[in-house]
Amino acid sequence: MTSKMHVAVVEQFGKPLVLQEWDIPRPGPGQILVKTEACGVCHTDLHAASGDWPLKPKVPFIPGHEAIGRVVAVGAGAKNIKEGDRVGVPWLYSACGHCEYCLTAWETICAEAEFGGYTKNGGFAEYLLADPDYVARIPDKLDPKLAAPLICAGITSYKGIKETKARPGEWIVISGAGGLGHLGIQYAKIMGLQVCAVDIDDAKLTLAKQLGADLVVNARHADAEEAVKKGTNGGAHGVLITAPSLGAFKQGVAMTRKRGTCVLVGLPPGDFPVPLFDVVANCITIRGSFVGNREDMAETLAFAAEGKVKADIELQPLSAINAIFDRLEHGKVDGRVVLDFV
Ligand code: NAD
Ligand code: ZN
Ligand code: ZN
Repeated sequence: MTSKMHVAVVEQFGKPLVLQEWDIPRPGPGQILVKTEACGVCHTDLHAASGDWPLKPKVPFIPGHEAIGRVVAVGAGAKNIKEGDRVGVPWLYSACGHCEYCLTAWETICAEAEFGGYTKNGGFAEYLLADPDYVARIPDKLDPKLAAPLICAGITSYKGIKETKARPGEWIVISGAGGLGHLGIQYAKIMGLQVCAVDIDDAKLTLAKQLGADLVVNARHADAEEAVKKGTNGGAHGVLITAPSLGAFKQGVAMTRKRGTCVLVGLPPGDFPVPLFDVVANCITIRGSFVGNREDMAETLAFAAEGKVKADIELQPLSAINAIFDRLEHGKVDGRVVLDFV
């Protein structure tokens, strides 16, 4: 094994990533070393590199939280894992395991949680360290390149749909038909929901139709809210907002049926105005949702291993990362870009 690896590094917020060679890290006690095969590029990586959120990572850092690879070294005391296992290193890199949230399978909101590609170096690198207790177990049947988008975009949209509490036969709006949304549409269909996809780009809506959306609405059209209300006979029982745009949030609340639930997962910086009278008088629930727990991860991957959900991917080399970020920022990526390391 050589001692150096190629990595893409955020040295300054808002500046292009820098391609560098770093020493391959060694796994300490309880850690594993993973040789990256593929890593998806999430819009969150762009927020991370831009320093968009109140909790900022420390520069320099390596983004990437959709890394899939083989375990190539196991540190002392790391249990239930062996060299050669194929794992995913997700956003939830680790948690304390003991607090009230960890004990109730809400480890994603543990105060001591670490985040892959954010507070810990991530998968825009040929190798990365991971905590074996929190890695995703990738089913043998799944191609690692197709598995990559599932371990953030897949789990987040799947969990978000569950959090709307919409039931089979009911309507769900998926606002933002990009990396998260194009998988959300597929999960919602296999969960028996009627799906209305909302986006500002007709190419995304064409893909949404191909993936099974029953209704598509362009959010730029002045009558978008009316079109959703009409098409769903009074608004959607569940609304999942993945769009990284504040305008989509107010619109999504307005598309929610009386007594329905609007789940927020998109994370553009800033706040959005909540139309208080409408939310109160229509008994609407607005709820945040943050990735998913380890059981959600296993379910997310199982659906794909059974061939029921398939990410729409475009392969690119690590060296193209800045051009990919530029396209992502301008809504020019259909499905998910996956960095191909093999
Ligand atoms: P993406 O860029 O692949 O897709 C975003 C989609 O939203 C694009 O299709 C774009 O055309 C569409 N869009 C933009 N403005 C819109 C509007 N006003 N109305 C409707 N659609 C609009 O991004 P992604 O990787 O899917 O990530 C989306 C967001 O979700 C990001 O903010 C990301 O940080 C966040 N995210 C949150 C979690 C979580 O746990 N809550 C996890 C992953 C990602
Ligand atoms: Zn992500
Ligand atoms: Zn905890």
